[in-house]
Amino acid sequence: MKFSAIQGVIFDMDGVLWHDNTPLAGFDDLFAWLRESGIPYAFATNNSSKTPQAYVQKFADMGIPDVPSACIFTSAVATAQHLQSRYMAGTPLFVLGMAGIRTALDEAGFDLTEDEAQVPQAVVVGIDFNMTYARLKQATLHIRNGADFIATNADKTYPTPEGLAPGAGSIVAALEAATDQQAEVIGKPARPIFDLVLKYLGTPAPNTLMVGDRLDTDIKGGRDAGMKTALLFTGATTPDHLMNPHNDIWADVAYEGLPDLLKAWAGDAWWLARQKSKRGRK
Ligand SMILES: [Mg+2]
Repeated sequence: MKFSAIQGVIFDMDGVLWHDNTPLAGFDDLFAWLRESGIPYAFATNNSSKTPQAYVQKFADMGIPDVPSACIFTSAVATAQHLQSRYMAGTPLFVLGMAGIRTALDEAGFDLTEDEAQVPQAVVVGIDFNMTYARLKQATLHIRNGADFIATNADKTYPTPEGLAPGAGSIVAALEAATDQQAEVIGKPARPIFDLVLKYLGTPAPNTLMVGDRLDTDIKGGRDAGMKTALLFTGATTPDHLMNPHNDIWADVAYEGLPDLLKAWAGDAWWLARQKSKRGRK
């Protein structure tokens, strides 16, 4: 892969830029490089629980105050934009999900209905920490009565300090079992989120780099969308996973973390000059 051909870049966030609230090595260097090179960038996460504004605040708290909210594509934002291309404003939707997806759909002009008597145009499912059997039942009845079945993402689990916890995909799986129907998925590795971010960047897929830490979402989705892919070993994937004989998902390039990605992309001379100037400022 030629870095000189890369005109735009999409980053996954957790496991690539930070772990929880701790920025990973190379975080500030990455933004220095993006500023200097002028390469357009965007972020794509399957997390539907947070709003883009919450991520803007998170970047600001980590010393990067100028990230525009428009370049942050959560699976919730992608779902809202995707549905806007299909349904009119005011269309009634039933939502199993949290603030991120509710805010995105509300701001997109949809009617988030709780009316049990009326069948909504679609049931939209994201991660929901307050999910109850009653709401799962309501969603099931709506889908069985003809509502479209949309999922922000299909991640079965997500990492917590206590271990892997049920993700949106586990709730989607419960509904698929209850309705005998398959959800239409918007988030990674499905295509809609990649198409929306590529449209925002305005760069051709083969000249756009997807940087991620997961093979089955970031890298598979990037590849399927025709993009170049860079895997970082700072999150979900280890070199052992990559070399496992059962693995059939390969990234174009793989690095230990952001510093090695930047050395390869910006060059060793850039990296050394940057470290020197940082030391000089201390
Ligand atoms: Mg990640």
